[in-house]
Amino acid sequence: MKRILVTGGAGFIGSHLCKRLLCEGHEVICLDNYFTGSKSNIIQLLDHPYFELVRHDVTEPYYAEVDEIYNLACPASPVHYQYNPIKTMKTSVIGAINMLGLAKRVKAKILQASTSEVYGDPIVHPQTESYWGNVNPIGPRSCYDEGKRCAETLFVDYHRQNHVAIKIARIFNTYGPHMHPQDGRVVSNFIVQALKGEAITIFGDGTQTRSFQYVDDLIEGLIRLMASDVSFTGPVNIGNAQEFTMIELAETILSITGSTSQIRFMPLPQDDPKQRQPDVSLAYANLNNWKAQIDLETGLYNTIGYFNELLK
Ligand code: NAD
Ligand code: UDP
Ligand code: UDP
Repeated sequence: MKRILVTGGAGFIGSHLCKRLLCEGHEVICLDNYFTGSKSNIIQLLDHPYFELVRHDVTEPYYAEVDEIYNLACPASPVHYQYNPIKTMKTSVIGAINMLGLAKRVKAKILQASTSEVYGDPIVHPQTESYWGNVNPIGPRSCYDEGKRCAETLFVDYHRQNHVAIKIARIFNTYGPHMHPQDGRVVSNFIVQALKGEAITIFGDGTQTRSFQYVDDLIEGLIRLMASDVSFTGPVNIGNAQEFTMIELAETILSITGSTSQIRFMPLPQDDPKQRQPDVSLAYANLNNWKAQIDLETGLYNTIGYFNELLK
């Protein structure tokens, strides 16, 4: 049994991770400031004797004795990370320093939830980990993209300088139950709009692409990465290699829900990446043949079921 700290544990991904770690018999400390997360995501875990909930902000130092740290604390939806961009940057950078300082002191293994956003609006397609990316340092997405890039730098430097055992996961667009209905990301927006019979808001002409991963596949990838050989630090892409346009996504959601919602085209936000698809061969080679198992239709079906209950 390990004691495992999950920062951002009350968020969408964090709540699934906390549950999985408890199921595997570990003790879990879930740390969150509830900016975008919610107690409702982890309410079923509160009675578990090995689950501990801590209201704390990662930009402040935190002291505990733990074996592993999953550093997930950071708003992930463009709407939320752009709400207070300076705070987003502080969360990524100061949060990383504090968690790395903690990992160094207690000799814990630490995993960073990095992102495909480090590739920016990519010129190389699909994206391999060796690609350095195409990121605007002064645009509306920069607080998130550059914050996450800086966090990767800190992780690698704590590893080189202080021998901290690190793992960096570059997570591609992930969706599933526990996304907030007002999260603002495309999958939850389209599903909520379809279920309410409201117009589906496609930004731009809808030909931009993303590769959508169901949350269970991601959690399996993160657990395998944490358990991987100490010499394997990443960065490693964790994503589903199936790529879709936003028009295809809207059509699939309309078809599964049977909704009669109209499609409304709206302006494309500045610096919105035109394409995104992970090359996942590094994960396959180093994480026991990991690759995403759940196709878009199956994942959407589960997620729509969740939102259907939530909106009742
Ligand atoms: P989320 O917004 O649901 O979860 C983030 C959690 O972090 C929330 O519970 C929030 O309250 C908490 N948080 C934010 N700032 C904090 C702070 N200063 N101190 C403590 N807690 C704080 O988003 P998510 O989709 O679950 O994302 C989790 C992590 O995965 C993030 O780091 C995100 O960047 C990364 N990621 C997610 C995706 C995705 O598609 N979901 C893709 C790439 C990377
Ligand atoms: N830190 C923390 N918990 C710990 C140890 C450190 O939050 O258990 C924070 C502390 O605020 C410190 C930061 O992590 O500023 C970086 O720690 P490190 O030891 O690398 O640097 P230093 O303490 O020398 O600034
Ligand atoms: N998007 C959209 N309608 C929405 C929300 C998002 O068309 O209601 C588009 C957005 O412009 C982007 C894609 O969907 O091209 C994915 O957006 P999301 O915010 O989910 O993730 P990210 O851009 O960070 O990959």
